[in-house]
Amino acid sequence: MGTAKMKHTNQQAVVIDGKAVAKKLRDSIKRHVQVLVEDHKIMPGLAVVLVGDDPASAIYVANKEKAAKEVGMRGIVHRMPQNTSQDELLKLVHALNADGKVHGVLIQMPLPKQIDSATVLKALDPAKDVDGLHIENMGRLMSDMPGLVPCTPMGCIILLKTITQNLSGLHAVVVGRSQLVGKPVAQLLLRENCTVTTCHSRTPNIAHIAREADILIVATGKPHLAKADWIKPGAIVLDVGINRMDDGKLAGDVDFDAVAKVAGYITPVPGGVGPMTIACLLGNTVAAACRQNELTVPHIG
Ligand code: NDP
Repeated sequence: MGTAKMKHTNQQAVVIDGKAVAKKLRDSIKRHVQVLVEDHKIMPGLAVVLVGDDPASAIYVANKEKAAKEVGMRGIVHRMPQNTSQDELLKLVHALNADGKVHGVLIQMPLPKQIDSATVLKALDPAKDVDGLHIENMGRLMSDMPGLVPCTPMGCIILLKTITQNLSGLHAVVVGRSQLVGKPVAQLLLRENCTVTTCHSRTPNIAHIAREADILIVATGKPHLAKADWIKPGAIVLDVGINRMDDGKLAGDVDFDAVAKVAGYITPVPGGVGPMTIACLLGNTVAAACRQNELTVPHIG
């Protein structure tokens, strides 16, 4: 593997500090926001829509609002009750689409069951879809056209590039094929000229496939699924999973302690991929504000 800082395989893995990388990213975004405000009189606006009273969603939304404000953006949260109808939510989405002060809109998932999330996402202006989940942005990603890219996958690529700028020719194995993480991260890895294998719940003998990986990305929502015998010595392991355990602690999808004895690099949970997601959301909001004002989109990350 052509990594810049290869470690000896008999050492503990280097722990990738996602918090520090995300902080650097947010600092860079803050500078871009400053330029937009001072030179162009544009204050990027991020609207976050929270429907219902899911406690985890409420925390995520509060964190996004706080992060937006910390980089100097306008962060606006729209809270709607659990019994909100689809039409009521669509009305808000149309109003946000039309609001010139709002450059990015994020609809916090999951939505209550009376609302069809696909219909709501489709109603969103793709230019404001900072989660990158609108079919137009998904299509752009598949077609290698500029668009808004889902935040967690983008964060994974930025983390990989802190280890080596050139991912070309590396074998990446992605475990998980969701719209939110697995599929888009596989597509971004292809863009980086990796050889990509995607595994999922019907893939037999994942350990055997994973052991071929220079880069292993696990996004399943199954705590400690990836064990030490999944890992090629020296591999880069990104753990996307966030699982709340019975003792209240967070766990990833990777058996961290055992895997760290074999891998070259590994992300912890918390403090690995997670902080990158919000930073990339802010980056997408800056990109959206620039495109909507026909300004060059700065390189962030
Ligand atoms: P989904 O439930 O949408 O998808 C899970 C994927 O994992 C599916 O493709 C599923 O396969 C696959 N899978 C499930 N069990 C297994 C298994 N035993 N072996 C192999 N594959 C399996 O989850 P998400 O992609 O949305 O999220 C994954 C994890 O990442 C969750 O823990 C989530 O909380 C976390 N997350 C973290 C973020 C962050 O900021 N760090 C952001 C987003 C998510 P199949 O398709 O066959 O069912």
